[in-house]
Amino acid sequence: METNKEQEPIGRLYDIQGFSVQDGPGIRTTAFLKGCPLRCPWCHSPESQLYKKQLSWMSMRCLGVDACNSRCIKACTKNAIELGQTRENIQDGSEIQMIHVKRDLCDDCGDCAEKCYAEALYLCGKDYTASELTERLLQDKNFYDTSGGGVTISGGEPLTQIDFVECVLKKLKEHDIHTALDTTGFAKWDVVARTMPYTDLYLYDLKHMDSKKHEAVVKVPNEPILENVQKLAENGKKLQIRIPVIPLFNHDEENIRKTAEFCTKLGDAVTMIQLLPYHNLGVMKYLRISDEPVAEATPPSDAYMEKLKDIMSGYGLHVTIH
Ligand code: SF4
Ligand code: SF4
Repeated sequence: METNKEQEPIGRLYDIQGFSVQDGPGIRTTAFLKGCPLRCPWCHSPESQLYKKQLSWMSMRCLGVDACNSRCIKACTKNAIELGQTRENIQDGSEIQMIHVKRDLCDDCGDCAEKCYAEALYLCGKDYTASELTERLLQDKNFYDTSGGGVTISGGEPLTQIDFVECVLKKLKEHDIHTALDTTGFAKWDVVARTMPYTDLYLYDLKHMDSKKHEAVVKVPNEPILENVQKLAENGKKLQIRIPVIPLFNHDEENIRKTAEFCTKLGDAVTMIQLLPYHNLGVMKYLRISDEPVAEATPPSDAYMEKLKDIMSGYGLHVTIH
């Protein structure tokens, strides 16, 4: 656990989003933490997976080396930035010479980002003490109060920073803020249990009911995930179950039926099932932090999503398509 000199936990975030209406009831502010033990190939926030701060580059913001006198190239003492592709300047049709980051030489020191006034280069990942984050989240309290909203702690997997998360949740409850935890559920039970006194709602992901298939694709088995959600239900916690619908992985009717059967056994704890159709909006984000090619799939059709919704609704569950 990282702490500052007053022994307060320090957490690492990659984003804070206000006015969120998709991460629990009402208007919410969502804090996104870095670090996750899963490796979902469809992850729409690839910058969330690693805990370390990562150099990111947004090509559309890059002014080109001529406009900025190659500031980033000059700043990098590891020779990790070279000339890259060109793109057209939409204002006058001229060519803009952009850069390319050699990821094998880059150590994410951030020196180039400090020199990039266009903020095309930036370090993804910012550290907060629990008090600093709480103070930021409390700035939006009026919106929570007037809309029945609150704060959602998300990731990445927030349970990987449990000391920080527990402390922030506790502070929020001291201010009577509604709290939600968006989690994969992949953690030891005693870690999950520490969040229970301060968490009103769990947004809980279920990806596949077959552990071997689960592990083959997201690199961890599903047993701890299923056991933890059962224990949360037994302890009277409220659950919104989130199911990403991923073609060629978990979108088949058999898996959807098994997931529905499992959810019915969780009883009244489950307030809603949210089906999240795969989309490929995250693909561009991978290119900000990596040169690795990303597998893309065809999103499921609206008609197919409706069919899956009907199947799950048939089990008496309240199902929405997110
Ligand atoms: S990344 Fe920034 S500093 Fe580097 S060429 Fe583009 S605008 Fe200039
Ligand atoms: S983060 Fe550091 S090592 Fe990487 S490209 Fe920038 S200056 Fe070079």
